[in-house]
Amino acid sequence: MMMKRRDFVTRLGGAAAGAGLLSACGKKEEASSTVKPAARTEYKWDMVTTWPKDFPGLGTGANTLARLINQMSGGRMQVTVYGAKEIVPAFEVFDAVANGTAQMGHGAAYYWKGKNEAFQFFSTVPFGMNTQEMNGWLFHGGGLQLWQEAYAPFNLIPAPAGNTTVQMAGWFNKEINSIEDLKGLKMRIPGLGGEVFSRAGGTPVNMPGGELFTALQTGVLDATEWVGPYNDLAFGFYKVAKYYYYPGWHEPGTTLEAIINKDAFAQLPEDLQAIVMSACRVANQDMVDEYTANNNAALHELVNEHKVELRRLPDDVLLRLKELSDEVVQEVANKSDLGKKVFASYSKFRDQAHDWHNISERAYLNARA
Ligand code: CA
Repeated sequence: MMMKRRDFVTRLGGAAAGAGLLSACGKKEEASSTVKPAARTEYKWDMVTTWPKDFPGLGTGANTLARLINQMSGGRMQVTVYGAKEIVPAFEVFDAVANGTAQMGHGAAYYWKGKNEAFQFFSTVPFGMNTQEMNGWLFHGGGLQLWQEAYAPFNLIPAPAGNTTVQMAGWFNKEINSIEDLKGLKMRIPGLGGEVFSRAGGTPVNMPGGELFTALQTGVLDATEWVGPYNDLAFGFYKVAKYYYYPGWHEPGTTLEAIINKDAFAQLPEDLQAIVMSACRVANQDMVDEYTANNNAALHELVNEHKVELRRLPDDVLLRLKELSDEVVQEVANKSDLGKKVFASYSKFRDQAHDWHNISERAYLNARA
């Protein structure tokens, strides 16, 4: 054994290598890392997510984020993505990252309304801001700073890391011609949209995406929303529902989030911290691009191949839903000091964006039509 070690030291050459080996005291791993110092991964992170592994758009967006960090860091960081239930269930992602079980998570702020209902402003609220407006508010309108303040007590740093763009109102088997048609309807529609739906006389249900097809097929549900054409086509809802309604008043541009454990982030050198945050920003935009491209293609397939009947919710139905939404959103804002502060910032930005977008995006789309 002594003989072997001496030979090894001689072969490595130099006092430094020898000292390193001796201090390793025969630990094989350290000795071999002295021999091969290249391609060192300094930070191994786990990313837990609220999505099924590789789920189109949402799960693949988390994969994109991890890949970007791994590549941009030149392998110094290695982030591994886990789908819901692989380490923790979907709705335990926030706590798992807060307590350091994982260094990072990918989900949406409205899932954590149990911590504070005001968190929902950082994902989406009914008749709220669209994707472009959310990004403007978060990155250049003070929104992200408020979000960071909101998550700080939980030892978490949030970052926008994806957006579904405007969703669809959902799948129905009967036509919606007036607000009365929503009465008694059992629909999967979670969150604040569900509360609004309830005030309109419907029965909102929350159910994971994977159960929706069967629930519609067997009549457990009368209707469901999910995301938009890209994701809804993948679930095959066109086989069990006749009408596909728009627009997605309840989720007008849902921001997804990366959440990062503060202690893990603090351990990174500044360049890796910048890489993590920049990767989130790229992933945030990339998902918008992915949904824009794939929603277009999927809608075309749904209408032309699967003969889905597209329907717009009537104006008076949307108007009533908007009135109820304003009530519900205001109530959420009034529930806490954080809610009041966030809503003040959110609503000011939304109203200004409304004025500007009326004469820019809306005017242009009308003109192009
Ligand atoms: Ca949805």
